[in-house]
Amino acid sequence: MESLVRRLAIESIWPRFCIRCGREGEVFCRPCQEAYRPRISFAACPFCGRGGSDRVCDECGPKTYLDGVISLAAYGDPVVREAIGLWKYHGDEQAQATIELWVRQLAQSLRLAEAVEAVSFIPLHESKKRSRGFDQAQELAKMVARLINRPVQEVLRRDRKTRAQAQLTNEQRLVGDLDGIFRVQGNLPQSVVLCDDVFTSGATMDAAARELKEHGVKTVFGLTLAKGSLKT
Ligand SMILES: [Zn+2]
Ligand SMILES: [Zn+2]
Repeated sequence: MESLVRRLAIESIWPRFCIRCGREGEVFCRPCQEAYRPRISFAACPFCGRGGSDRVCDECGPKTYLDGVISLAAYGDPVVREAIGLWKYHGDEQAQATIELWVRQLAQSLRLAEAVEAVSFIPLHESKKRSRGFDQAQELAKMVARLINRPVQEVLRRDRKTRAQAQLTNEQRLVGDLDGIFRVQGNLPQSVVLCDDVFTSGATMDAAARELKEHGVKTVFGLTLAKGSLKT
């Protein structure tokens, strides 16, 4: 009850506007829930965009430790971007519920992930998680795990802080820059799907996959809410 009162108080101070139509009220209004689905980016190699499958294609295979990446929507979609931002930076519960709704609606695109033993995520650095209060990638992993009926396993921890990939230019985004930022922990599964919010250059996820494979994990898939940069 107290949290409801507090929530209502917060909402009366900061009125909410729908991320799609801008109407005052909810973060994602009923009519928009009916009318809108995030665009499922068609199955494609995450690195070269060659279509057909979310698996990494034969040509890109030697350049990465990842076996494939599933993305549910395009980051260029302003509705998706707004929901991710509200959730990530403001911990907005309505935005989280909206994203969970989309993940459920897009469950058929998770087929590649159903072959794995466990669901995991790209962890935030502990200090960042503390200041933010939650880890968005971990919450996404829980949503996915519930849908495909697999356990969530924390297979990685982040050893040092990095600049956000989005703030880097392509030249700065060198894979070597990320060497050693992740360390494996616990008993590792044979196959795992790593969740994260956005897939851009893939360098972070590749560094995580590398650490896992060097410690005996056979298959590593990625799963992100969105793929691409603001420009796509
Ligand atoms: Zn709306
Ligand atoms: Zn490719």
